[in-house]
Amino acid sequence: MSELISGKVIGASINEELRKEVDQLKINGIEPCLAVVLVGEDPASEVYVRNKKRTCGEIGIRSIGHDLPASTTQEELENLIQSLNDDPAVHGILCQFPLPEELDETRVILTISPDKDVDGLHPLNAGLIAMGQPKFISCTPYGVLQMLKRSRISTSGKNAVVLGRSNLVGRPIATLLSSKGWDATVTVCHSRTANLAEVTSQADIMVAAIGIPEFVKADMVKPGAVVIDVGINRIDDPSKASGSRMVGDVAFKQVEEKASFITPVPGGVGPMTIAMLMANTVNAARWLNGMSEMDL
Ligand code: NAD
Repeated sequence: MSELISGKVIGASINEELRKEVDQLKINGIEPCLAVVLVGEDPASEVYVRNKKRTCGEIGIRSIGHDLPASTTQEELENLIQSLNDDPAVHGILCQFPLPEELDETRVILTISPDKDVDGLHPLNAGLIAMGQPKFISCTPYGVLQMLKRSRISTSGKNAVVLGRSNLVGRPIATLLSSKGWDATVTVCHSRTANLAEVTSQADIMVAAIGIPEFVKADMVKPGAVVIDVGINRIDDPSKASGSRMVGDVAFKQVEEKASFITPVPGGVGPMTIAMLMANTVNAARWLNGMSEMDL
């Protein structure tokens, strides 16, 4: 039986540390501020944005919402972002994705100032991770690192296998785990990986970020492995009032019998992602005011 790594508990303690830090910054005349841009009326995006703004409120970070109609043009969106880049009272800029189809997300990412890129999506910030000098780390990978650190899981010299190679999750996690200080030996697996189970069975630490419900079964896991499940998938469940429930990329019930540590879904990596967005916003305010980053 494995030990549960609760993102709810770890995320709440990070939020509490941030709340104290924000109080201190305010005493020094700095009010961390996150601008949240939402284009269109995607219901899932609306929920995400609401949750992010609510957490800002709980921590004391000022959030400024910019809700734009789906008809917004690329130029209008980029002009707004440019004005937020130029506004000294704004420290972090988040544009909720996905954007309506007609809008180009890459151009938006490139427009956000790398100094206010709290989602860590700008190529400059991705490049700094690749160089082993991370500044803004995208929120989900940052959350995974914090879960390992705060659960006192040593990664040095361990075999880590990351399932998934997306720019948002898999690739940065793999790069970070192999970097100085984390020092794991990392294998990245993807949809074309041959003999996947053979590779994953060597993993002391496995991170699953593929988006396939309950894909990782017990026979793919090394006994005693640490299993971090990033996946968020909805599957049919007639026993629920909603008719569905959320599961990760890991078949939790069977894998928890074999792993030493495991993250649940929901309540695992998910709550960490928002906490790390808050951390990036506080750090943005600190950096833009000539201070060093918080020790988290
Ligand atoms: P993505 O679709 O961009 O990437 C999926 C990756 O999985 C690809 O690199 C692909 O090669 C790989 N893959 C697909 N099938 C595979 C297979 N059979 N074997 C091995 N690898 C395979 O997805 P993403 O944005 O990286 O997200 C992955 C999952 O994480 C999704 O479920 C997403 O909802 C979830 N997610 C969660 C959070 C969070 O806050 N917890 C944040 C972002 C994404």
